[in-house]
Amino acid sequence: QAKDRGKNTYQFYSNNLDGISTWKMKMENWLRRAMEQNQMTLHYQPQFDLGTGKIVGVEALIRWYHPEYGYIAPSEFIPLAEETGLIVPLGKWILREACEQRKAWCDAGFSDFPIAVNVSVRQFQDEYIIEFISDMLEEVGLEANYLELEITESLMQNLENSTIILNQLKSLGVLLSVDDFGTGYSSLSYLKHLPIDKIKIDKSFVDDIIYHTNQGMMVKTIIDMGVNLKFTVIAEGIETEEQVKFLTQNACQIGQGYYYSKPLSAEKLEKFLLEGKGHTQA
Ligand code: C2E
Ligand code: MG
Ligand code: MG
Ligand code: MG
Repeated sequence: QAKDRGKNTYQFYSNNLDGISTWKMKMENWLRRAMEQNQMTLHYQPQFDLGTGKIVGVEALIRWYHPEYGYIAPSEFIPLAEETGLIVPLGKWILREACEQRKAWCDAGFSDFPIAVNVSVRQFQDEYIIEFISDMLEEVGLEANYLELEITESLMQNLENSTIILNQLKSLGVLLSVDDFGTGYSSLSYLKHLPIDKIKIDKSFVDDIIYHTNQGMMVKTIIDMGVNLKFTVIAEGIETEEQVKFLTQNACQIGQGYYYSKPLSAEKLEKFLLEGKGHTQA
C-alpha cells in the first residue's frame, strides 16, 4: 500500500511537472513563432516636460497580438522570455526596431528627444551586449544620445559586474535611466556613484500622492533628492490632473501616463508629434 502511495505521489508530481514544462514549451514556441511571423510590434508612449508641456522623450513598449489568442500583455510573456533566455534575441529585435524608428523620426525632423527602451537584467548576461548595441547603432545610423536604456534596480543587485557594464554603456554615449524607482532597495546616493542620467518614480508611488500624505512626502523627497543629485526625475503612470499639479509644484521635471497619452502606434505618435509638441522644424 505504501508502495502504491509512493507511486501515486511520484506520478502526481511527475504529471504536474510535465504539465508545467509542456505549457512553457508551448509558450516558448509561440514566442519564437511570434518573432518570426512579426506578431510583435512596438508602441510608443510620449513623455512630457511638466513645465512646458513639450514632448521630451518616448518609451518603446512591446505589444504582442497573437492570431488566435489576441493581445498578450508584456507582464505575461516578458518573465517567461527572461526565464527561457528568449529575451536575448527578442531584446535585440526590440532595440533595433526602436532605433530604426527613432532614426526615421530624426530623418523626418523630430530631432530633440531620446527613445527609451526597457532592457532586462538577463540581456546584460550576454557578454556581447555592448558590442551589439554599438554595432547596431552604427548600422542604423543613429547617434547614441538618442537611445536611452531603462534598467531596473535589480540590475545593480543581480549582476556582479554591473558597474563595469553601466560604465561601458555610458561610454557608448547612450542615456541610462532607472525604471520603477522605489520598488527595489537602492538609494539615490548609491545611484549617484553610477553613470545614471534619469530616475523614473514607480507608478505605485504616483498613484495616491494626493490623498495619502505619507505617499506624497515620499514622492516629494525622491524628487528633491533626485534633483539635488542632478538626476532628471520622471514620474510614470500619471492619470489625473491632481497628480500633475502635485508633481509640478514639487519640481518634478518629466511626466508620463494615460493623463497625457496611452502608448501609441508609430503612426499615431507621429500624428501627435505633428500636431505641435516636440517638432523642431518650422
Ligand atoms: P514599465 O517599463 O514600467 O512600463 C510602464 C507600464 O505602465 C506600461 O505597461 C505602460 O503601458 C503602463 N502605463 C503607462 N502609463 C500608465 C498609466 O497612466 N496608467 C496605467 N495603469 N498604466 C500605465 P506595459 O506596456 O503593459 O508594460 C509592462 C511592463 O513590461 C513594463 O513596465 C516593462 O517592465 C515590461 N516591458 C514592456 N515592454 C518591454 C520591452 O520591450 N522589453 C522589456 N524587457 N520589458 C518590457
Ligand atoms: Mg519602462
Ligand atoms: Mg516603469
Ligand atoms: Mg512600472
